[in-house]
Amino acid sequence: QVAAGTALYLDGVSVSFDGFRALNNLALVLAPGEMRSIIGPNGAGKTTMMDVITGKTRPDTGDVLFDGTVDLTKLDEAAIATLGIGRKFQKPTVFETLSVWDNLDLAASGPRGLWPTLTARRTKSLAERIEAVLVEVGLTDRRHILAGSLSHGQKQWLEIGMLLIQDGRLLLLDEPVAGMTDSETEATAALLLRLAGHHTIVVVEHDMTFVRALGARVTVLHEGSVLAEGTLDAVQADQRVVEVYLGR
Ligand code: ADP
Repeated sequence: QVAAGTALYLDGVSVSFDGFRALNNLALVLAPGEMRSIIGPNGAGKTTMMDVITGKTRPDTGDVLFDGTVDLTKLDEAAIATLGIGRKFQKPTVFETLSVWDNLDLAASGPRGLWPTLTARRTKSLAERIEAVLVEVGLTDRRHILAGSLSHGQKQWLEIGMLLIQDGRLLLLDEPVAGMTDSETEATAALLLRLAGHHTIVVVEHDMTFVRALGARVTVLHEGSVLAEGTLDAVQADQRVVEVYLGR
């Protein structure tokens, strides 16, 4: 089985919307603990690819496997989330009127559990897990602050923390540094580099400074397929990639 030992395996994935091919025979393979940067011009199919992985969109054809064996095309969004596949959209969606701590507390219950009251689950082990996540995302001194008072970058880190507290194993991040300051962007790269190895990470990003800082293998999408794959230097030197970006 070709997908054996992979964390994420897409092959021959096609999606059409009213006859328009948003994904066209797309292939993408990630090893466990691998980080991958996905780039490509607007309309390349990056969002549709994420939608297919999370079950929001069903492919017309193709294989989408998690952990080498779990067929994601047979599962709905809620079931896929319970596997530990977490997605972060570009815009932060934290609960602004709750504290940082309570955001993590609340996130800890879903999607792998029920949606209980905040107070009922103040178990020591949960508190310890929240503490560890706060350290991981660099928000230990912000724990009592309302999430709405955080900087834009801090909100993004909190949201990554909300994926971590849910035991996210495959993290799908859509333009995580959009709108961040340079120092926040640097800190985010450092955070993702700490997480890689323990988590498989797919990052869709336009910011090439950030992509360079990640140092991950890069996949270039164009017209719903993989145009090029390799190091950032290699794909940027690829004439077909240059033409796709210059042509728009
Ligand atoms: P990207 O995220 O790389 O900008 P998308 O995956 O959003 O690309 O879109 C790929 C193509 O599919 C675009 O041309 C877009 O207009 C089209 N598309 C995406 N979603 C839909 C939809 N729900 N209905 C019709 N067309 C769509």
